Amino acid sequence: MAFSEITRNVQTIRQRIVHAARRVGRDPARVRIVAATKFVEVERIEQALEAGITICGENRLQEALAKMASIGRQCTWHFIGRLQRRKLRAMIGRFSLIHSVETVDQAAALDRWAQEAGHAQPILLEVNLGGEPSKGGFSPEALKAAISPLDQLEHVQIQGLMTVPPWLADPEHVRPYFRQLRELAEQIAAQRLVRIRMDELSMGMSHDYPIAVEEGATLVRIGTAIFGERPVPTRQVPPETAQPGEGEG
Ligand SMILES: *Cc1c(COP(=O)(O)O)cnc(C)c1O
Repeated sequence: MAFSEITRNVQTIRQRIVHAARRVGRDPARVRIVAATKFVEVERIEQALEAGITICGENRLQEALAKMASIGRQCTWHFIGRLQRRKLRAMIGRFSLIHSVETVDQAAALDRWAQEAGHAQPILLEVNLGGEPSKGGFSPEALKAAISPLDQLEHVQIQGLMTVPPWLADPEHVRPYFRQLRELAEQIAAQRLVRIRMDELSMGMSHDYPIAVEEGATLVRIGTAIFGERPVPTRQVPPETAQPGEGEG
């Protein structure tokens, strides 16, 4: 994709975020774009940075470290992929936000490594609202049960929730999941918590981010709508969500 195209894409996304926020009376400045940069080469990431992107979200530690080596502090790095236990230690301090903490064990391990490093590590808790086995995250019930132990961790800063809802062709059908994540965050925030904050909602991707913004997203993770189609599909439409009529004829 040409330079001008990435610039135009970023501008379009910005405008759609502003419009979505205004439709529901939200301040557009409360919504930040995380460019999902998996499989995207450094040159094209740098084009997005020139177009005004400030946060890059990576899914794999090795790929992130390689890109950090060339791009460095030109952007803020977030981690949005599945966590691997043996790599958690190396993530401390390298990512200003880890979106995808799926279990109390992961949070506790990050807490220990953060303590060792003398660094307060910001994280989000991923919630699996669709109950999809292929995706990580707390079920809403498991999350509610885990809040009290999580609130005792002193070296991670829990800032909010993240979700990757089921893929549905009509983004309007994803709205109930976004709403559910916001309501879950509101319920948690209403408890007497010592450390946990519920300031951030990481939800919405290329095909549904305006709906996510209407429902309260503060971080939208966008890849395809900025950079175009990725060479390797990272997510396939499961058969049960295929639309009637698809694949016929
Ligand atoms: C790749 C990815 C995105 C961005 O997906 P697009 O549909 O390309 O915008 C968002 N979140 C996560 C966790 C991802 O892995």
